[in-house]
Amino acid sequence: MKTQQADVAVIGAGTAGMAAWHAATQAGAHAVLIEAGAFGTTCARVGCMPSKLLLAVAHGVHDAQQLKPRGVDGTATLQVDGRLAMQFVRRERDHFVATVLKEVASFPPECVVRGRAGFEASGSGSHRLIIDGAWRLEARSVVIATGAVSNVPSEFKVFGKRLLTSDDIFELETLPQRLAVFGAGPLALELAQGLSRLGVEVCVFGRDGKIAGITDKSVHDALAKSLAREFYFDPDASVHEMLLEHGVPTITFRATDGMTRREQFDAVLVATGRRPALKPLMLEHTGIALDERGTPPFDHTSMQCGTSSIFMAGDCDGTRPWLQDATDEGQLAGANAARFPDVKHVERKVPFSVVFCQPQVALVGTSIETAERNVVDGFVSFEDQGRSRIDGQARGALRVYAEASTGRLLGAQLCGPQAEHLGHLLAWAVQLRLCVDEVLTLPFYHPVVEEGLRTALRDASSKLYARRGETAPHLAAAVGLS
Ligand SMILES: Cc1cc2nc3c(=O)[nH]c(=O)nc-3n(C[C@H](O)[C@H](O)[C@H](O)COP(=O)(O)OP(=O)(O)OC[C@H]3O[C@@H](n4cnc5c(N)ncnc54)[C@H](O)[C@@H]3O)c2cc1C
Repeated sequence: MKTQQADVAVIGAGTAGMAAWHAATQAGAHAVLIEAGAFGTTCARVGCMPSKLLLAVAHGVHDAQQLKPRGVDGTATLQVDGRLAMQFVRRERDHFVATVLKEVASFPPECVVRGRAGFEASGSGSHRLIIDGAWRLEARSVVIATGAVSNVPSEFKVFGKRLLTSDDIFELETLPQRLAVFGAGPLALELAQGLSRLGVEVCVFGRDGKIAGITDKSVHDALAKSLAREFYFDPDASVHEMLLEHGVPTITFRATDGMTRREQFDAVLVATGRRPALKPLMLEHTGIALDERGTPPFDHTSMQCGTSSIFMAGDCDGTRPWLQDATDEGQLAGANAARFPDVKHVERKVPFSVVFCQPQVALVGTSIETAERNVVDGFVSFEDQGRSRIDGQARGALRVYAEASTGRLLGAQLCGPQAEHLGHLLAWAVQLRLCVDEVLTLPFYHPVVEEGLRTALRDASSKLYARRGETAPHLAAAVGLS
């Protein structure tokens, strides 16, 4: 069998893998990038970009329809042409994919390998990868950047060709009339609301009441209430039966009103999560430790698996399944793979994710579940927040968490207008280790949604001072004590 050598082998040419290849090459290593599927990345082909394009059309239609009570007529005649809308999504998606393909084409050809990689063995000082079962690549270090794949539990296989995942949805020529969506995570919510706003009758069935990873009850309930106004939404669905009846997906379930319902759909979107694409790698041949799910434990400050010269990056590591983290992890893993055994550790950014449904969701930093008891919270509802009301977006809620002993901001959970922007402000404040009172000394304009954030911060500040038997500075000023 033919054998080639490299300093660093990067498995997977997605966002994380490409970042790893650049970092390893910049560090002076001969790095080889291996890709089994299509170039172009999950983000551009079937992920962030087409889903946001679909939502851009959908939110546009929805916003226009909301103008009628504000004296703007003619919105009733708005017609969504599903075929043209999907063509638009694919056309713009192809633009983003082409940008990535151009980048891949700029890599030296000897550094890019087509084929599926799996470990043959790891010995002293090197790893042997078998590519497509046909030839061998020997590398000093390996970066695993194989991404994640849609997780389709076996019970959904009954729907046969009517079963869709997020990988299929953007290829639809026309929109279905009725769609069942399983899952209430970020992808399910974005796709369900996007399609619903384009005129598809959508029913969403979640499990265990969970919505988009939100653990704060008030924020969770505010989002559930808002979504349920737009389409059938049960985050804790009780499904009795799923079958194909004369080729038509048929689902029997206990509805949110307590009644048993039997509904038929044109298609079923299963968005019940994505799992790391690690199985075909045959990691058991490497000798590194694997947990019960077959995932290697790794140090998230170096991306190194144990003390080995194997590094993880991106969605395949099962944590932070978001694009910017795929890039950060790829850069870190690639640089460390190149300089192994001189591995460097970095402080990771504050965890931060956004869901682009409306109201948007943002999760920042440490959630109240993982925080210690030494925590104070601050809360605001957007239902009567000035600017949100002006914009017809008065829904949602925000809770911030701060360390009780110091007032340092720890994190936040929110759903509401402009959550993507409020989330950034909060993520920056948390990462800069700002205290609640320090943020309150910063400028807030009027009328803006940031005033809602200020209300939550003031609430936290009041609680922090109350714990010490004192009056918060903003209250003291209001009552003339300072
Ligand atoms: C519908 C959807 C919407 C999303 N929206 C957002 C969003 O708005 N914001 C956000 O931050 N994130 C979003 N994400 C998540 C984001 O897309 C991912 O975090 C990111 O793309 C992960 O990049 P990656 O490099 O880890 O994986 P990928 O880009 O999937 O790359 C992995 C590559 O490895 C290859 N591969 C796998 N196994 C092998 C093997 N054995 N040998 C060789 N090659 C192999 C695969 O073919 C693939 O090309 C979304 C995801 C989806 C699905």
